[in-house]
Amino acid sequence: MAQFRFKALEEVLNRKPVDVKREENLTSDYYAMYVFDRPKMKKYLSGGAYKAVVDAIENGTTIDRKMADQVAQGMKSWAMENGATHYTHWFHPLTDGTAEKHDAFIETTSNGGVVEAFSGKLLAQQEPDASSFPSGGIRQTFEARGYTAWDPSSPAFINGTTLTIPTIFISFTGEALDNKTPLLRAIHKLDKAATDVAQYFDKNVSKVQTNLGVEQEYFLIDEALYQARPDLVLTGRTLMGHASSKDQQLDDHYFSSIPTRATAYMIDVENEAYKLGIPLKTRHNEVAPNQFEFAPIYEEANLANDHNQLLMDLMNRVARRHKFRVLFHEKPFAGINGSGKHNNWSLTTNTGVNLFSPGKNPKSNLLFLTFVINTLKAVYDNQDLLRASILTAANSHRLGANEAPPSILSVFLGTEVSKMLDLMEEAVVDRKMTPDEKTALKLNIGRIPEIILDSTDRNRTSPFAFTGNRFEFRAVGSSANNAPAIIVLNSIMAKQLIDFKVAVDKLIEDGIKKDEAIFQVLKGLIINSKPIRFNGDGYSDDWVKEAAARGLTNINNVPESLKAYLRKENMELFDKLGVFNKSELEGRTEVEYEKFIMKIQIEARVLGDIAINHIVPTAVQYQTMLLENVKYLKDVFSEEEFKELAAGRLKLIKEIGGHISAIKIEAKEMVEARKKANVVEDIMDKAEVYDKTVRPYLDNVRFHIDKLELIVDNEKWPLPKYRELLFVR
Ligand code: ADP
Ligand code: MG
Repeated sequence: MAQFRFKALEEVLNRKPVDVKREENLTSDYYAMYVFDRPKMKKYLSGGAYKAVVDAIENGTTIDRKMADQVAQGMKSWAMENGATHYTHWFHPLTDGTAEKHDAFIETTSNGGVVEAFSGKLLAQQEPDASSFPSGGIRQTFEARGYTAWDPSSPAFINGTTLTIPTIFISFTGEALDNKTPLLRAIHKLDKAATDVAQYFDKNVSKVQTNLGVEQEYFLIDEALYQARPDLVLTGRTLMGHASSKDQQLDDHYFSSIPTRATAYMIDVENEAYKLGIPLKTRHNEVAPNQFEFAPIYEEANLANDHNQLLMDLMNRVARRHKFRVLFHEKPFAGINGSGKHNNWSLTTNTGVNLFSPGKNPKSNLLFLTFVINTLKAVYDNQDLLRASILTAANSHRLGANEAPPSILSVFLGTEVSKMLDLMEEAVVDRKMTPDEKTALKLNIGRIPEIILDSTDRNRTSPFAFTGNRFEFRAVGSSANNAPAIIVLNSIMAKQLIDFKVAVDKLIEDGIKKDEAIFQVLKGLIINSKPIRFNGDGYSDDWVKEAAARGLTNINNVPESLKAYLRKENMELFDKLGVFNKSELEGRTEVEYEKFIMKIQIEARVLGDIAINHIVPTAVQYQTMLLENVKYLKDVFSEEEFKELAAGRLKLIKEIGGHISAIKIEAKEMVEARKKANVVEDIMDKAEVYDKTVRPYLDNVRFHIDKLELIVDNEKWPLPKYRELLFVR
């Protein structure tokens, strides 16, 4: 046998970094070259068509057919000049990832040739054969009628040789079948609600934009090693593998110098991303070995989410060139950190104010506090919805595992803002406030800016942290589409701001002055939402106890968590806002249940196969070797000597036998449990049965396999081990 246990290992060690050509021009020269952005629209569209698109982007107006035709012509010319031959409607179905179907620009002519054609009709709307996309029963498969419709607020781009048009995906009855439609709705609702509240402070505010900056964590694994792990290939995570003696104990990976091959990969991704107008800003090593992060500059939330999905797709494709595979799974390796996708979320007005940035005077700080305090209340009231938006089979391995946010929602504000809220809570804000008290309060409120800018406390253990000018929702999974998280966040915030305005208006009607009315309502919110505020260590056991005492919920169980979507008050919340009607919400919750079941089912099958086909035969072989050895010992040595020599070996043989039997029994039971679970009709019950009766076997079977990994001859072990997957490069 070669020097290496695996041909794969040899391959990895012989790899050279791909020679990535640096772009010759400055990034700013080629940035967004494949995006049909405003400068290109200006060049390729008539004045009227340009205005129509900008209006649609800024004010949500519709584009009529004639204008759409003009836009289509301009887009086509630009795309063809840049080598595009096809076009596609690109959308975010409820599966992971994005969907596209390419059509050539060609149309046949009467004399047997073809011409390149593209029309407003094709740009605006298409009807993909959508019967295979999950919809949770909204759109019965037999009618399979769904259509995609152009989203002008996210610019078209050229991906390879295809003009790609971001679209929403809805049923013919107008129900959302995708992630983007409700995202746009929720963004719009929050815009409206936040604008109304911001107008208390500045009548010039007419629009509030949601911003999103997505930090994307991921692992890079060499392709050869990846291919040698069927569990990684089929489930995205390792279903077995004993911990490496060294992994992240020394914290020597975080922010350390990036390995050469990984650097080449990142540069390549960046070059491509820039051409597509994705503003990647930061790259670094993460905590776990082979774990990295990309972060772009934040953008408008819908665009940022399109860019995040596109980036993931790009990362996968570029990885092939570098003989890498990207793992986006939330927990590819047991025992070391998993990956998340921090959602940096903020709101800015058309007047250029970040509503989560402390201002320069009492008035602008009251605006800031208004939005911070309403966020607190929204998160407090809707912990369960926020959790439901991010908890999946994969992400549940990560939450609460001392590396990622716990499954308790809490908000970190930092000492300064907390202090401010305490002051406001104590202040007597009613008509009886003396002028001095008012001045003192105003002074205090006016004092925030310097303090915050100074403050460096950055609590890393909080699932929802205020970080100076934004909130960071850190519980989102690395493989997830950000939409569900932002849909919930924007919806609960919209509802909270609507309620806030009603309360303030009522006080104003009662004759209380505006500022005081705002104070009073805020004070109530501060008191009511107090349990959600937590500045301490979110990973500690004490916090779990304290959170329980505070009445915060703590759920790390997917079927249980998803129920939040279907609670009456939550259905009403979404319905009233017009983000989801009842059937849409039921539909997508069903899809989530289905996904959960499928993921567990697939993992159970893969684990069963590997256990029986790879592990057991290997262990039996090794056991046989030991048995033969014992036989020889017996032939050669005296009875006395043999007893002494063989004792350890016999013990080992028995130990191996024990694990083999256990694996066989558990694997069989796992199949039985699956069979039983599969006949459960109700999807929620079925998910619960899968969770309770099938899922535990994944750990049980793994336990014995991991034990065997430590015993069986290294040369014979059929799978790359953690120390190889994570450290050989
Ligand atoms: P850290 O790891 O310290 O949180 P990063 O630089 O990795 O910081 O990522 C921060 C992310 O937050 C980036 O995507 C950045 O653009 C984004 N961000 C910064 N300011 C805002 C803001 N006001 N609103 C939304 N996102 C923001
Ligand atoms: Mg961050």
